[in-house]
Parts: sequence; C-alpha cells; structure tokens
Amino acid sequence: MGRVAIVTGGTRGIGAAIAKALKEAGNKVAATYGGDDEKAKAFKDETGIEVYKWNVGSYEECAEGIKKVESDLGPIEILVNNAGITRDAPFHKMKPEQWQQVIETNLSGVFNMTHPVWPGMRDRGFGRIITISSVNGQKGQFAQANYSAAKAGDIGFTKALAQEGAKKGITVNVVAPGYINTQMMATIPEKVMNEQILPQIPVGRLGEPDEIARCVAFLASDDAGFITGSTITANGGQYLD
Ligand code: NDP
Repeated sequence: MGRVAIVTGGTRGIGAAIAKALKEAGNKVAATYGGDDEKAKAFKDETGIEVYKWNVGSYEECAEGIKKVESDLGPIEILVNNAGITRDAPFHKMKPEQWQQVIETNLSGVFNMTHPVWPGMRDRGFGRIITISSVNGQKGQFAQANYSAAKAGDIGFTKALAQEGAKKGITVNVVAPGYINTQMMATIPEKVMNEQILPQIPVGRLGEPDEIARCVAFLASDDAGFITGSTITANGGQYLD
C-alpha cells in the first residue's frame, strides 16, 4: 500500500538511496536537504522525487516545511530521520561550535522532525519513524565525542518513543550503519581508510547506500509492525552489539 514518506537529507548519499527505495516500494516520497541546491535539483531530475529545503536544526523550519509537504502529498505516515553531519576533532581541540552543530543537526534535528508529525500519527493510529544512527554511536569513536553522543542519543530517543507509540500503531526504530560508501567517507584520507578503517571491517569492504536503504524500506513496510524500539545494525561485522 502506498504511504506518504519523508526522508531528511534525502537528496544524496544514504538518504537518496532510502528515498528511491521507498518510492520503488510504492510510497509517495518527499526528500529534504540543507543547502546543496545543485545536488537536490540533479536528484529531482533523475528520480522525479520532490525536494524541499530547510535546516533540520530549526524547529520552526521543520514545522513549516512539514506543513508544506503535507499540503502537497498528504499526512506523513513514514518519517526517516537521516540528515546528519560530522565535525570531527579530538576532544581537547573540539570547539563549542563543533559540538553544537552536530548535536543540533544529528540529535535535535530528530526531535524537530518527529515532534510535528507525532500528533497526526497518534490520531490516525499508524506511523513509522526510522532514524539513522551510526556504529560510532554504539561503540564511540576517537575525535567524535560530538557525533557519538548525538548518535547514541538517537538510540535512547528511539527506545523511549517506541514505548509511547506502541499502543498507537507507531513503530520507532533505528538503523545503525557502519562505514558506508558516500561523500561523508570522501573526507577520510586514503591512508586512514586502507590502514585503519578497512582492516576493522570483517567483510573487507565499505557498505553501499542501497544496503542501508533496504533495511529502512523493510522497517517502513506494513510487514515490520511487530518491530519497535530496535536498532538494526548493518556494519559488515565491525561491531557486534
Ligand atoms: P551525506 O553527507 O552524503 O548527506 C547528508 C545529507 O543530509 C545531505 O542531503 C545534506 O543536505 C543533509 N543535511 C545535512 N545537514 C542538514 C541540515 N542541517 N538540515 C537539513 N539537511 C541536512 O551523508 P551520508 O549519506 O553519508 O549519511 C546519512 C546519514 O547516515 C547521516 O545521519 C550519517 O551520520 C549516517 N551515517 C553515515 C555513515 C557513512 O559511512 N556514510 C555511517 C553511519 C551513519 P545538503 O546536500 O544540502 O548538504
């Protein structure tokens, strides 16, 4: 059955793969982005998926943007919180702005998007909330105190909200990817990739965005109604939670 879905950060990387997978599953999909108009236009031209620009770190922008999407497509039934950033630095060099930007986007952004869609999902008795966390939120990562804190926070948020949504037909889950082949990875020096990252991954390669998208499409489907409060780990065996 086709439902209305919104994917934050859905115009490139993992989010673009998720938006396409949800569309292929028959849903009406909106993809949001934060600033890269060129990438967003190219994605829209390629897929026919409508794109919307706002900062997930702003509650007001999320509430306004969601209203617009709902007037275009109908009430949101599937929310995928995927937008995320890194601002890495060892803690003794981490600036307060680096902490705040990452918490604002990767953790508060999840609140800002979920809070406005929650009452409608409760009223209609159906909802799917899926948040993209990270293996680094599960195990911690050097130079990512900000990112690890936000991504671990997403898991706690999900477990709490799953309990509140359960009787209202709303499932709330996390997908925690390991290292996935996207632009986010392009910032990692080749030497670090070959000598430090790849040797940690038992399957011996990065994951592909489609491999995460298929997990999300399953959690978003009606078949996944008994799964809530879960963290689906997809990391090539790098970390066994
Ligand atoms: P990308 O950097 O490729 O894409 C990020 C997307 O998020 C873009 O569409 C970007 O918009 C959007 N975005 C960033 N900040 C904001 C903001 N403030 N408001 C609205 N949109 C914003 O990321 P990935 O595809 O690699 O990652 C997607 C998610 O998966 C993230 O949450 C990331 O933390 C997580 N993840 C990624 C892993 C990886 O290996 N790549 C591993 C584990 C987790 P724009 O294009 O306009 O900048």
